[in-house]
Amino acid sequence: MVLFRNARILDGSGNPPFAGDVLVEGKRIVRVGEVAAPPPDVHAVDCGGRTLMPGLIEPHAHLSFVDQATPEAFSSLPVEEHLLATLKHAKLYLDQGFTSCFSAAATKPRLDVVARNAIAAGDFPGPRLLAASVQLTVTGGVGDLRQLHLDPGEAMYCQACDGPVEFRRAARAACREGVDVLKLLVSGDTSTPKVPSSQTLMTDDEVLAVTEVARQHRRRVAAHARSAESVKMCVRHGVDVIYHATYADEEARDMLEAARDRVFVAPALSVTYTRLHEAGHYGLPASDAARERIGRDLDSTVECMRDLKRRGVRVLPGGDYGFLWNPHGRNARDLELFVELLGFTPMEAIVGATKWGGEIMGMGGELGEVREGCLADLLVVDGDPLGELAILQRRDQLRAIMKDGAFHKLTL
Ligand SMILES: [Zn+2]
Repeated sequence: MVLFRNARILDGSGNPPFAGDVLVEGKRIVRVGEVAAPPPDVHAVDCGGRTLMPGLIEPHAHLSFVDQATPEAFSSLPVEEHLLATLKHAKLYLDQGFTSCFSAAATKPRLDVVARNAIAAGDFPGPRLLAASVQLTVTGGVGDLRQLHLDPGEAMYCQACDGPVEFRRAARAACREGVDVLKLLVSGDTSTPKVPSSQTLMTDDEVLAVTEVARQHRRRVAAHARSAESVKMCVRHGVDVIYHATYADEEARDMLEAARDRVFVAPALSVTYTRLHEAGHYGLPASDAARERIGRDLDSTVECMRDLKRRGVRVLPGGDYGFLWNPHGRNARDLELFVELLGFTPMEAIVGATKWGGEIMGMGGELGEVREGCLADLLVVDGDPLGELAILQRRDQLRAIMKDGAFHKLTL
């Protein structure tokens, strides 16, 4: 048993912080409040008035992305090195206070599955992970790196499918291999001018084929959906998690609002923001044409997310870390961007990264809050994240990190 004493508890529910103790037995929190007579064999940790809060949850992780500029650089990595890189990133996320990750695609079919299993078995440190498939795309869609004059060989970043039969086969194969999440690329993207964000690429019957398979196998479906029509397609066919929603129009927003109890939206702001404002530091300044395109996507995303927030849709911070200009480990920065760009309060951003994170993991009510009965995924933080969210990005201010009742770090 572990007893956190003298903590300022920021419980993830949105309620103001309060002073108290937290008792952990096994994997779970068994008491929140004053523990006057602790059991004799308890491991007591004096928090000294520091903030105790739920572990952070990343709703759009790509642990197998390798902090490079191009998808070709990801796919050229042999599977052995690639698995090591994935496990290295998993440890980094936990070091940064992320105790859970909802994966938004692996770059080889089994990387996430193997990493998830190794972490769950206790063989390697990392966050609890929902493992994703590779991204399923269409011929000529985002991530289809094939060229007619070259043998496609084993180059794998996304898997191109055409028609419901091929999508169904790919989805079933991914389920067979043990993924939790099937990932679709339903629209174009900012990074691919030939198929821009406003373009819809998949068809209704293709999206439906995958959501049907997911329902039968009790898996989740997450989609890259920037165009208005792609968002509508996703809501119509029961996609659970919608990424970006850049150009969701009035009708798409109405549909998201009507489905707000079951869908999640995660815009992945940082990857677009940093591509526009910071990629130059990494030797990748955007051309004028690219700046125009990326700026338009960012402005539209910001306007849309502000509206979705007003409509009560769960909009979650995080996403798409793992590129050269948006490297792994800085994921908590999204909370700051939510405050600066979307008008969230620091408390709302934290709820998005904790309580709603538990919900996107499919574990609402037992993950993402400091509450009796919840899993003990906890951080002890120097300072007040409500006053300065950047604290959450500073590893040395994370004084304790606990996952499933076990310390990953304890420097108190
Ligand atoms: Zn992504």
